[in-house]
Order: sequence, then structure tokens, then C-alpha cells
Amino acid sequence: MKNMRLALFPGSFDPFTMGHLDVLKSALKLFDKVVVAVGYNSSKGGLFSPEARVEMIKKAIGDLERVEVDSYTGLTVDYCRKIGAVCIIRGLRTTTDFELESVIAQANRKMAPDISSIFIPAGHEYSFISSTVVRDVLMNGGDAKCFLPPGIDIDDYIHK
Ligand code: ADP
Repeated sequence: MKNMRLALFPGSFDPFTMGHLDVLKSALKLFDKVVVAVGYNSSKGGLFSPEARVEMIKKAIGDLERVEVDSYTGLTVDYCRKIGAVCIIRGLRTTTDFELESVIAQANRKMAPDISSIFIPAGHEYSFISSTVVRDVLMNGGDAKCFLPPGIDIDDYIHK
């Protein structure tokens, strides 16, 4: 598509939650296409492997159109340039999120003035959900289904 407006929704997504899916759906109202990309740092680890996170996101988006899933290492702005994204999408739950996100957005803007950041507020029913809470629930043997997109069976991904 000519002049297609492409946005990047980057994150650790360890794992991808209902909150992330909600932000993605809002972003699709603003952009022609959204790339959801797992940003990872090999020294950082995580509960799920980057490959498992990508697989889980693909399952979570189901037949949602205009979405692509990928992973990357290195600077988010470099990855944006590589794929031609004009905007970085981030979700906001709290004022703490806002403070952290605005610092990151300003650093990215300094490095790449041509790429904007857009913050999308969490839907009120998802504003308490975080990947950290999901990991805590899972590591303590709880059922995290209510935090995850429908159709995700976490056992399919946990040791991949
Ligand atoms: P990161 O480690 O890069 O912060 P996360 O996977 O934790 O990655 O989050 C990715 C983005 O999604 C962040 O902008 C985060 O603030 C946002 N986010 C996380 N959970 C929610 C939620 N429940 N509702 C809205 N945004 C969320």
C-alpha cells in the first residue's frame, strides 16, 4: 500500500497479556499496519524464550488483520528504521508508567527525530494486568488464564 502508515508496538511481552492485546487493537484504529515485536536482550533472560513469546502473540492475535509479529535485538529506533515504522506505540497504566515511558520516548526522539511515540491508555478492565503479575501467578502454580488472551494455553509455551 502506498503511503502506508506503519507503527511498531515493542515490548518484552513475557508473556503477552489481555492488556497488550487491548493496546494493539487501539493502535490498529490509528495505523494501517502494526508490527508487534518482542525486544530482547540475550543477557536479560525471561520466563519465556523470545521464540515462545512470538508464537504466543501469533496465537493471541488470531485472525486480526494488518498485524505482523517479529522479534529484534538492539535499539528500538534502529528496528523502526529497518521496518519503516513511523511511530512507536506504548501502553500506559499508571502515572509511574507515564514517567518511565516519557523518558524513553524523549531519548528515542533525540536519537530519531523522525519517529514519534504514541501512548495508549490501558482499558480500565485491564489496567491492573502486567506480565510481572502473570509470571508471579504462574511461578506459584496459579491459573493465569484470566489475564491472557482467549485460546492461550500457557503450558504450550512455558518450556520452549
Ligand atoms: P517492556 O519491558 O518493554 O515495558 P512490557 O511487555 O512489560 O514490555 O510492556 C509493553 C508495553 O505495554 C509497555 O508500554 C507497557 O506499559 C504496556 N502495557 C503492559 N501491560 C499493559 C496493560 N495491562 N494495559 C496497557 N498497556 C500495558
